[in-house]
Amino acid sequence: LPQVIIIGRPNVGKSTLWNRLVGKKLALVDDQPGVTRDRRFGEAHLLGLDFTIVDTAGWEDEDENTLPGRMRQQTEAALVGADVALFVIDARAGLTPLDEEIARHLRQCDVPIVLVANKAEGKTGDHGIYEAFSLGLGDPVPLSAEHGQGMADLFEALLPHLNERQLEMDAEAAIAAELDDEEEYDPKAILKLAIVGRPNAGKSTLINRFLQEDRLLTGPEAGITRDSIAIDWNWHDSASGEDRPVRLIDTAGMRKKALVVDKLEKLAVADARHAIDFAEVVVLLLDATRGLEHQDLKIASMVLEEGRALMIAINKWDVAEDASGLFNGIRKALDDGLSQVKGLPLLAVSARTGKGLDDLIRAAFELRDAWSRRVPTAALNRWFDDALAKNPPPAPGGRRIKLRYITQAKTRPPGFVLFGTRLDELPASYQRYLVNGLRRELGFDAVPVRLMLRSPKN
Ligand code: GDP
Repeated sequence: LPQVIIIGRPNVGKSTLWNRLVGKKLALVDDQPGVTRDRRFGEAHLLGLDFTIVDTAGWEDEDENTLPGRMRQQTEAALVGADVALFVIDARAGLTPLDEEIARHLRQCDVPIVLVANKAEGKTGDHGIYEAFSLGLGDPVPLSAEHGQGMADLFEALLPHLNERQLEMDAEAAIAAELDDEEEYDPKAILKLAIVGRPNAGKSTLINRFLQEDRLLTGPEAGITRDSIAIDWNWHDSASGEDRPVRLIDTAGMRKKALVVDKLEKLAVADARHAIDFAEVVVLLLDATRGLEHQDLKIASMVLEEGRALMIAINKWDVAEDASGLFNGIRKALDDGLSQVKGLPLLAVSARTGKGLDDLIRAAFELRDAWSRRVPTAALNRWFDDALAKNPPPAPGGRRIKLRYITQAKTRPPGFVLFGTRLDELPASYQRYLVNGLRRELGFDAVPVRLMLRSPKN
């Protein structure tokens, strides 16, 4: 539903108007914790218009001196999610300096304002109504919330804004539906797993070990060939006792078969690029005797840019020196070098002894689950409203960029669509703020997350 927010200084009749629009029986009082504590949400019905009505009461007994500042702050936060603001003044009392201050603030906002002159029953409010014209917020709508007068005028004033918003929401829903990949995720489906890494990291040895047979030949000398690039295999999960199907995608084999020896180092990147076309989860295999090298970070970035789930395994752990120093060093280098994800799964393994290999496959299945996860829209927007209230989007040129709502349009990798206006002016730093929040608070830490910006009007 479109959201209409009631704004005004204390005692102008905000709560009375809220009650009038919601009707006692339908009152839906929502005491959300945190930043939205001071707002009351209700479902409003006005001559066939349905919308959410938000009352920003809560400062009625504030200290006179701190009130303006606090109101401004609260109003600011509340306006972030609003489609229309009802700015209520008291027609009988006339304008006060606080009204004028609120008006000054509202004139700079991007939200359409409907100016309401309340307590206008009879002729008592005429004076205030005339004064209200001077606020520069359009013609005031005279009404009496208490007596239910002027509601048809309010309807007429709101109608164009809400109609436009409804059309936008329909367009947003259509875009989101179109982008939705709709594929149902089956956590038991075969896991497409690629092992990538520099030559001699131990990829072939690892795959051999998994398969428990010498279908792949390994050796220090390159140039070995094999037939298939994808091997279907059952991993026995000793924890659950189940067999889980895995398709191993081996790039070393592809490359060794096709190409000459002396370019191997450079070709590791090309191999990885090829493998990720087939993979859901990519394991980047490092060599414990060499650590994390520039080439490895390059491969890792590429995997993430392609939207695949990435994990890192440090192989040859059986011959690692200063194991904990090595592990922590690699952890730090990954977090520093790959800003698009935090806390990538990092495991120590030995293809030779078999150490850590069960954990590796288990972690790969778990990572695929996270990569395939869908967050319900309600939970997503609860987070979103909070994120916007904590850190409102910037206001270039004094006009705030309007972010309306967010929806998850894709999984594998997770992709989100953000709707709003003037999104072309949304700075990269603010987009990062949102993406980081999404990752941290909705459980997408180790997977690449994408944010698309859509404005239905463009
Ligand atoms: P690839 O080029 O990545 O496929 O690497 P290979 O599987 O051919 O392995 C390169 C070399 O590293 C071989 O000599 C392997 O025996 C050795 N190697 C692989 N895994 C391990 C391991 O876990 N520990 C030790 N010590 N050596 C390993």
